[in-house]
Amino acid sequence: MNNDVLVIGAGIAGIQASLLVAKSGRQVYLVEQSSMIGGNAIKFEEVFPNMECSTCMLAPKQQELLQTSNIELLTLSSLESLSGSAGDFTAKVSVKAGYVSPVDCIGCGACYEPCPVSVPNDFEERLIERKAIFVPCAGALPNVPMIDTSNCVRFTKGDECTLCQEACMFGAIDFAQEDKELELKVGAVIVATGFDEFAVDGAQQYGYGENPAVYTAMEFERLFASNGPTGGDLTLRDGGTPKKVAIVHCVGREQVGYCSGICCMYSVKFARFIKHKLHDADVFHLYSDLCVPGKSYEVFCRETLEEDGVEFINCGDVSVSKNGGGAKVSYKSGGESGSLDVDMVILAPAVIARSGSDELAKTLGIECDEKGFFKTNADALSPVATSRDGVYVIGCAEGPKDIAVSVAQAGAAVARAIGG
Ligand code: SF4
Repeated sequence: MNNDVLVIGAGIAGIQASLLVAKSGRQVYLVEQSSMIGGNAIKFEEVFPNMECSTCMLAPKQQELLQTSNIELLTLSSLESLSGSAGDFTAKVSVKAGYVSPVDCIGCGACYEPCPVSVPNDFEERLIERKAIFVPCAGALPNVPMIDTSNCVRFTKGDECTLCQEACMFGAIDFAQEDKELELKVGAVIVATGFDEFAVDGAQQYGYGENPAVYTAMEFERLFASNGPTGGDLTLRDGGTPKKVAIVHCVGREQVGYCSGICCMYSVKFARFIKHKLHDADVFHLYSDLCVPGKSYEVFCRETLEEDGVEFINCGDVSVSKNGGGAKVSYKSGGESGSLDVDMVILAPAVIARSGSDELAKTLGIECDEKGFFKTNADALSPVATSRDGVYVIGCAEGPKDIAVSVAQAGAAVARAIGG
């Protein structure tokens, strides 16, 4: 019987699960596809309903994780196969070369400046660019850059570029690094791979991509973030400051066929952000169904409505067209047509399964549900267990949910993983 645990995904749920397992004295292998930990939650400035600073909440956990000797963090990694059974799994994990030595790098960032390649930064929702050698955002942990081989000219064109290497005074750039494969023996696996946003460019009535006044929720999160592209200034793509903002709920709900349960609440959070930063701005919520579950969410929503003077419009058939440099939002409410002229539209898209979940499910030997999320047992008494004994699913990998529930599920999965 092996007591070690493999955790897949280093977002808030995966971090929490890893720390809990480690506290029991067991070895944890934390496999993360990207070069940093924190997942989606690290993109947020504040989280609802208490408007806690997300970084302040996460940073101590990230630091603890990096300093815990019985947690081995494997960034740029993915699971290749899982054989055996509960208590005696063999996991094969591939680890990509990042071409920067984490031992020698001090995270000074001197290597970025001379790099001749600039590409959109996906972490920053493509609102700004990054270099081919990069960390995804300021404050990323681990603070070790990686070389993106799909854009670095050494790898794409075979050029003899050594500009980043020359700029590094610590000899940390190592072009000789190679991909490797590890074989890990574990007793249980916890899957915490998070979520994606519904692709709003598939919903053409909102004009996303054509109208620069239209933003996705995640773009707005980064725009508002103090470590984001504008340093937290609410600045539009045209350089202006928004005076009238429309937040459109339930984008993609019809297509995905379910209520994500958290979009209304993060939309209310956005209204708070805007009103607290730009006191004179008018904010309108366009919603068809307001999902405000539980006592704390109801209070949060009522405070925003009453204290911040945000207007809620119950409507359907919402569409967005260009209107000078801004947007006209048209809708139907109570059988009447209405419209708003605004300079910013924020779309609140549905939460969908992480891309690649179907492939990972096959590798894990578990199933996905009809919506593409990892399927857990229908048994209400074991909500994090899957059809494969010893494999557990937590957080948004299982379906849309808020941070508090994701963290609670981490505890539940760890109890099962180490308790049997
Ligand atoms: Fe950029 Fe050149 Fe370094 Fe590649 S080798 S990351 S192109 S500086």
